[in-house]
Amino acid sequence: MDPALIKLALGGLALLGCIGLFFGIGLALAAHKFAVEANPKVEEVLEVLAGAQCGGCGYAGCEGYAEAVVNDPDVPPNLCFPGKAAVAEAVAEMTGKKLGSVENMVAFLRCARVEGKVSEKYRYIGHGSCSGANLAFGGPQSCLFACIGLGECAKNCPFSAIAMVGGLPRIDTGLCVGCGVCVKICPKSSLELIPAKARVVVHCSTRGSGKMVKEVCDAGCISCRMCIKACPAGAIAVDNDVLVIDHGKCAGYGPGCGEVCAEKCPRKILRRYASSSATESLVKAAG
Ligand code: SF4
Ligand code: SF4
Repeated sequence: MDPALIKLALGGLALLGCIGLFFGIGLALAAHKFAVEANPKVEEVLEVLAGAQCGGCGYAGCEGYAEAVVNDPDVPPNLCFPGKAAVAEAVAEMTGKKLGSVENMVAFLRCARVEGKVSEKYRYIGHGSCSGANLAFGGPQSCLFACIGLGECAKNCPFSAIAMVGGLPRIDTGLCVGCGVCVKICPKSSLELIPAKARVVVHCSTRGSGKMVKEVCDAGCISCRMCIKACPAGAIAVDNDVLVIDHGKCAGYGPGCGEVCAEKCPRKILRRYASSSATESLVKAAG
């Protein structure tokens, strides 16, 4: 090879090396100057979290929550739902935060569409997601508040706790950790988190009038308010047009009421939770 060419190539390589070294030193100095000191407490908290990366806490992964709970005095220590009470207690102790009561929560489907024989306004053949179907006139069901049944909750449950059975989600309470991912993702607000020890549940999430519900569904809440009047604990109310149960008040009153609300409901929309799981009754109705 021409010695002049070799000399040129070596010169070029040396120049590139110098440039690389220059930028390398610059980056190292910048990294040193702007380095954020890692808080060892964040690492300690990260160690005790369940590590499920489920996002139920509302932060970007377990590391995001560990940083937030250590650095932000307003972030509570009980947001790692898969870790349940043991992790909440450990995080509270490590961060010196006060821990309120920790209750195991599970997802619950507030819709008896199958029992209600809700018809379809149209046949949906678009993208197979509940959010997609919801964009088309609120979904194919004639009840605007009914579960659409395309299983977006099941597909997104980080713990595989939801299976679609008979066109409705079935929640496996043994697998559900109450992270709330399904509740946030459901475009119809058909799912809610309830205490695992809830005594009574509401199988309808309608915000419609009794007249509207009667027109579209045989099983929905008709707003007769008989449950509210019957409850001696004052644990049932209408909030934002939806029937809600204050499970704390309900549990506080105890079994003395005989779950009279469930007895009085003419549509059997309120039911004892332990003896009448939504899923089982809905599956039976679906045949
Ligand atoms: S009225 Fe209630 S139970 Fe009936 S389909 Fe609508 S949400 Fe479901
Ligand atoms: S509960 Fe919500 S997300 Fe799940 S299938 Fe029904 S509409 Fe879809």
